[in-house]
Amino acid sequence: NAGLGGWPARRALMSPDRTAFVFRGRSLTYAQVHERTTALAHRLRSAGVAPGDRVAYLGPNHLAFAETMLATHVLGAIFVPLNFRLAAPEIAYMLDHSGASVLVHAPECAATVTALPAGPAARIPVADLHTPPDLHTPPDLHTLPQSTLPQSTVPETAAPASVGTIDVPVTLDDPALILYTSGTTGRPKGAVLTHGNLVWNTFNLLADVDVTSEEVTLVSAPLFHVAALNQTLLPTFLKGGRSIIMPSWDVDDCYDLIAEHRVTWMFGVTTMFAAFARSPRWPGADLSSLRLLMAGGAPVPPWLIREYQDRGLVFSQGYGMTETAPGATFLEAGMSARKVGSAGVPVFFSRVRVVRPDRTEAPPGEPGEVLVQGPNVTPGYWDAPDATRAAFTPDGWFRSGDIGAFDADGHLHILDRAKDMYISGGENVYPAEVESVLSEHPAVAEAAVIGVPDDTWGEVGRAIVVARPGAGADAEELVAFLRGRLASYKIPRSVVWADALPRTSSGKIVKPELRATYSGDVG
Ligand code: AMP
Ligand code: MG
Repeated sequence: NAGLGGWPARRALMSPDRTAFVFRGRSLTYAQVHERTTALAHRLRSAGVAPGDRVAYLGPNHLAFAETMLATHVLGAIFVPLNFRLAAPEIAYMLDHSGASVLVHAPECAATVTALPAGPAARIPVADLHTPPDLHTPPDLHTLPQSTLPQSTVPETAAPASVGTIDVPVTLDDPALILYTSGTTGRPKGAVLTHGNLVWNTFNLLADVDVTSEEVTLVSAPLFHVAALNQTLLPTFLKGGRSIIMPSWDVDDCYDLIAEHRVTWMFGVTTMFAAFARSPRWPGADLSSLRLLMAGGAPVPPWLIREYQDRGLVFSQGYGMTETAPGATFLEAGMSARKVGSAGVPVFFSRVRVVRPDRTEAPPGEPGEVLVQGPNVTPGYWDAPDATRAAFTPDGWFRSGDIGAFDADGHLHILDRAKDMYISGGENVYPAEVESVLSEHPAVAEAAVIGVPDDTWGEVGRAIVVARPGAGADAEELVAFLRGRLASYKIPRSVVWADALPRTSSGKIVKPELRATYSGDVG
């Protein structure tokens, strides 16, 4: 198994007694991870999972997420992590489109799972993954005094003697993950990432960052996003370091875990680092163990860089996307003060271009579309040949949909998006998706959604709605209509009624004009 499924066995040989994962006070060594994922692979195989099959996972960060992924890869099957904040109809689409044969689900998602239509996917609750049943996991860390937490008390879940090693032939070109991302048109697309894509992204990261076997990595961002998975957990695992898996993002837990485990590496989005610095614990906390701070997904604002710098903490920053697994460019911590606002330089084994509409090179200073090529770039979308064709130039460069410019030193600056999207608390929201659900409401003649600035979330949605003549609906009713149909982070926080939407002669809504008119306070 040349893919990720081979990693637990190799690590168990190299560093059996080192700690691989810590979750809610429980530690697992690499030998235990190997043993448990082998047993879990047998369990999944007896549920019918064969090479190339899809295994979906629905739940917040958990040890079971990592183990299910590795066991899936031991079998040469494809892991499909789902955003647990999505509504049931959104999940149902992804299960159906990926043709998942198994859905592993966490207790936190019981309501969503109950609301799913019956489907062919066999459902396995997280609690049933291991036989004999796994130790009941204690409630959230911060609700318990540390002394009551069991330490290193993982039960022996060794597989029965008849259960041997599984060695399925897997190459680096085989798909490892399908990650659903929304788009500017139609249904979400399932970006396929191969084992090679994940491995090369890890190499790109190791070329840029001094990750060591002594790393204690706080996995604080959701693992169903490629960034947390592939910029923290996998590189740490490859090096034989220790990943502290946080069930969900919580500022206080974050301070507790940093202190308890002497965390060295923390990755997050800007909103997380901003909330961390605004905590009353910020001035007094001992943060001396933190060696690597990594921010991604959006530029880190200068005030935040300065606030951390005053504590001797410097950010490295990255730009990327799901389809590039995710790193495309990287800004070293040492450069972050000199190149404020820059997304950095192309990652080591990949190439980045900025091109004009005719695809000729844009010279430094001139904005154009950002293109990426390299061994970390997706081969395409699952079962969507048209979307795949549209995502690449004829000569094979991935089209990011972002507008950027190189400066004279070869640093990329992301300036704008060609695609209609905004980012709320680190989650991308594609207005087209929200607009399409809004337009299903009988009182809505037409609707447009824009992102407006927000102190907490960076941006939140605002719907501009033209009512159908004679139809009565209020904002609360529209919001209630969206609930259950869309993830809550996609639901607009405000609704503005308008007489008409600005359109081009060809009938397309002019979003820049909408933003200019409706981005301010609406009282
Ligand atoms: P996703 O595919 O969900 O990972 O989102 C990728 C998109 O997030 C990119 O195409 C950009 O639009 C945006 N993005 C990611 N990193 C940055 C960054 N450092 N600066 C600005 N925008 C970013
Ligand atoms: Mg995307």
